[in-house]
Amino acid sequence: MPRGEPFKIKMVEPIRLISREEREAAIRRAGYNVFALRSHEVYVDLLTDSGTGAMSQEQWAAMMRGDESYAGAASYYRLRDVVEEITGYPYVLPTHQGRGAEQVVLPNLVTRPGMYVLSNMFFDTTRAHVQLAGGRPVDLVTPEAMDTESEYPFKGNMDLDRLEAFIRDHGAEDIACIIMTVTNNSAGGQPVSMANIRATSEIARRHGIPLLFDAARYAENCWFVRQREPGYAGKSPLEIAREMFSYGDGLMMSAKKDGLVNIGGLAAFRDKELYEKACGRLVPYEGFLTYGGLAGRDMEAMAVGLREALDADYLAYRVGQVEYLGQLLRDGGVPIQWPVGGHAVFVDARKFLPHIPPEQFPGHALAIETYLEGGVRGVEVGSLMMGRDPATGRQLPSPFEFFRLAIPRRVYTSRHLEDVADTLIRVYRRRERVRGVRFTYEPKVLRHFTARFEFVE
Ligand SMILES: *Cc1c(COP(=O)(O)O)cnc(C)c1O
Repeated sequence: MPRGEPFKIKMVEPIRLISREEREAAIRRAGYNVFALRSHEVYVDLLTDSGTGAMSQEQWAAMMRGDESYAGAASYYRLRDVVEEITGYPYVLPTHQGRGAEQVVLPNLVTRPGMYVLSNMFFDTTRAHVQLAGGRPVDLVTPEAMDTESEYPFKGNMDLDRLEAFIRDHGAEDIACIIMTVTNNSAGGQPVSMANIRATSEIARRHGIPLLFDAARYAENCWFVRQREPGYAGKSPLEIAREMFSYGDGLMMSAKKDGLVNIGGLAAFRDKELYEKACGRLVPYEGFLTYGGLAGRDMEAMAVGLREALDADYLAYRVGQVEYLGQLLRDGGVPIQWPVGGHAVFVDARKFLPHIPPEQFPGHALAIETYLEGGVRGVEVGSLMMGRDPATGRQLPSPFEFFRLAIPRRVYTSRHLEDVADTLIRVYRRRERVRGVRFTYEPKVLRHFTARFEFVE
């Protein structure tokens, strides 16, 4: 097997590591919040894998075919055909991104205030849209997800016993739907097994509850199934995707991940009824049925990207690159969530910085220090992001204190990732000198994006 990236580079975007003094000035000006840095102040940017990927020559070529007709655009029909081929769902709506799909779908299912929506684990905006619709989101991830060292291959799974028990205790009529997030982003990009999806689907059907996929990283999940689940090694990622989606009633998707585009999203359904309800919200909130907030050229790029994401060489490279960074860090002694997930390496900041308590945000302290050390930008996923209980104003307990290094698709070479690993290993060697932080400004909602900090002495 060749070790190189399965592409060569035709267009380059310069990046540069600014000096230590410049980095110190930049992060000070940013109020010690990496979201307030400007991108030119960052050397390797692992803030997110969302919308940060590089498009292929086929995607750029397809954009030239974009049909910008308001209604009935050919680009829409090309996108719809690809989505149906991959998912088996014939009713397809484009949206401006994943949360656009959430806002056109979820209020149609949460029809009474207080209804529950069950998931292996919600992504932030999905959770927020359940709440905005008056529903109550419930995470039912398998307990193995909480152990960052166990070799369990499918830490993204739904806890089937708790799912059954919840439905028995609360009654199926109070459950709006079940959402299966693949891969499980909030648990570290961890995969869900086909057996778990099948079993969840059986439970959902038995109780008459709709099952939807949150399909942002559907292709990466299919790759893990192929690699780790008995019986799938000989199947193509497309065959695996088709089986996976056959167990559900529809999907919501951010195409900024496995759609391999910089903007775009999707909702798709097996049946007309859910589709028609979503159409009623798509038009006022996103746009007409055949563009949903996107340009024709965006839909063309997505149609090509959705298929490229299922290419076996691409997936081997993609998931392999994340694993490579994970392995380098592990070899350097850095504690990480293991095995690594599909899109990011999650550094266990609680173990890395045991002297920093949760209220001084160890994951965020590590984000600041990693930027200062090597110009590498990652983000905290822990107490800071979790925030306060809106009712009591108290800090919510976070099950993890992570520092996340999310890898954009087809953007950085393995050499860049070696720089990232070296940076973090240097911080690890002087970890007892890393200080915690406290707020100098704490906004009321989504505080991690705009808060400012100072070091605790
Ligand atoms: C990114 C993401 C979303 C939201 O999508 P946006 O395109 O950012 O609006 C929803 N669910 C999951 C699992 C995601 O990763």
